[in-house]
Order: sequence, then C-alpha cells, then structure tokens
Amino acid sequence: MPWVSSTWRIIRAGVAQSRLAQFPILKFMLSYRHAFHAGNHADVLKHFIEVQLLRYLAQKDKPFWYIDTHAGAGCYALDSGYAMQNAEYESGIARLWLRDDLPAPLAEYVELVKRLNPDGQLKLYPGSPLVALELLREQDRMRLFELHPSDSEILRENFAGHEAQALIQAADGFGALKALLPPPPRRALVLIDPPYEDKQDYRHVTAALREGLQRFAGGVYAVWYPQLQRAEARQLPEQLKQLPVKSWLHVALSVQTPSEEGFGLHGSGMFVINPPWILQGMLQEVMPYLVQHLGQDEGAGYMLEHQEN
Ligand code: SAM
Repeated sequence: MPWVSSTWRIIRAGVAQSRLAQFPILKFMLSYRHAFHAGNHADVLKHFIEVQLLRYLAQKDKPFWYIDTHAGAGCYALDSGYAMQNAEYESGIARLWLRDDLPAPLAEYVELVKRLNPDGQLKLYPGSPLVALELLREQDRMRLFELHPSDSEILRENFAGHEAQALIQAADGFGALKALLPPPPRRALVLIDPPYEDKQDYRHVTAALREGLQRFAGGVYAVWYPQLQRAEARQLPEQLKQLPVKSWLHVALSVQTPSEEGFGLHGSGMFVINPPWILQGMLQEVMPYLVQHLGQDEGAGYMLEHQEN
C-alpha cells in the first residue's frame, strides 16, 4: 500500500534508518511479567496510540522527551517461553498481521512491528520503549523506569548502544516522575502503564498525575488501564476526569462480555491528557475496525469521549 510507505518516510525524517531492523541484542524475558500478555488486544490499543502520540510530537523539530514509568523489558519473543503459555498475541497483533485493509494509522503500527520481524514471521513484539526508540529523533530523549531487576537488566541490554539517548533506571516510576518534570525541552509524552496487580497502582496513577500536572501542565500524558470488574478499575476513568487539565480523551476497547464470575480482562482503555486534536477523529476511524477484528463475542465494542475544559 503506497500510502503506508510514504507516510512512514515522513515519520522517519531525521533518522537514518529503522532501528528495529538492526536491533542488536535480543535477550528474551525469562520470568513474567509482561511477556504473558505481549501483543494482546490491550498492547495493540496502547502501542497503536503510542505511535500516534509520538508522531504528533515529532511533527515539530523541537526536541521532546519520552518518559515511560513502567517500561517492561522492551522486547518479547512470541514463539517461546511465557508468551506461548496463553498465546495472547493470537487474539491481538496476529489478527492484524496479514490484513491488507488496515486503516492508515493502524497500518503504521503494524508496519513498525513488521520492521522488527523482517522475515515476515511474527516472532518478536516490541514493548513501549522499543516503539519509542523507532520513532524518536536524534534530538529526543527517553527516560525509562522498570522496577523488576531482571526486566530492567534485559531492557538495559536491549538498549545497548543507545545509552546517549535512553536513560534506564531500575526504580519506581511513580516516585521518579516528579523529579523529571518539567523536562528541559518543555515537551514530553509520559506513558503510565503499571501492572495494576496491586490495587494501590490505581491510587498511585492519579497521585502521580496530580503532582506531574502541577509541575508540567502542558505535557501529553497517556495512562493505560485494564477493564476488569474490580471497583478500582471501573472508577479510575472517572477519577482521571476530575484532574485539573485543559483537555482529555478517553478511549476503551472491550473485546468480550465480562465474565459472570467477575474474573479476567475483557478490554482496556487509554486516558490521554492534552491529546493532539487529530486523535479523536483518527480513533473514530480505527476503533470500529478494532472491534470488528479483535472482538471475541457480541460484548465487543468501543467507547470514545473527549473534553476541552
Ligand atoms: N509499558 C510496557 C509495554 O507497553 O511494553 C509494559 C509494562 S507492564 C504492563 C508493567 C511493568 O511495570 C512490569 O514490567 C513491572 O515489572 C513494572 N513495574 C511494576 N511496578 C513498578 C514501579 N513502581 N515502577 C516501575 N516499574 C514497575
């Protein structure tokens, strides 16, 4: 599809060639955590939006920072280890992999994953830091936080050779965020993507944003959250809407009817503070496609809301 490659050339302006295609070290996750879920429907939603937010920031020459408070290991093998256990990617990225009718913004994300898999076989999946590595320009910087010792070590190894651009810390991303804001170029995307296994994460998200916004009201902040039956998950979007911000966008993709027992992830959402104005229209185009192709039963659907204060 010619429009994909031409759009991509614009995105890549200022970067010599794909960093994913020459990805140097691939040391795969050997213990949880995000590997179980790599490439699932929630990753599709999150990373596709991440691509669009980074593209938006890269439209101006002025540098920006990418701050990832919960970075994970950076890259996941889909054909071995933990990712194989439930093969969640099969109902996520795999359903888009061979399609030739992808809406343009979704095609940009799938193309990015394809550059990590140059032989055309879906074997590797990029985590949020690697998505960013592909889209940042020389003048941009990354700050990545990953608390788990082995994942942060893997992340460090995956970013070998990129130390001048990416600073990786095995530290609590919630606690570290405040000190980074405002970033020197006064432009940034902050991705907040905790595991939410501990219900305190819900509280930490709103607290970190409240503090962050006091220091850096103009930043773009993107929060991922799970659609679960637990009260904290259902309340989080409403709490985020109470934050003192100029504008927000909230999108959620449900892939199935919530289970009667009350367990399991039936979808996920992204709450974006200070979203680019084009995001809403773009999601209106893409979300029905995601529902159609990632939906698992008649409970599949999406929700999109936006507010300018
Ligand atoms: N953002 C990653 C991506 O999209 O590829 C996935 C992140 S995963 C959902 C959450 C990660 O946060 C896990 O790797 C976990 O070890 C890490 N983590 C948990 N608590 C943390 C904290 N307080 N600070 C930094 N990392 C944390």
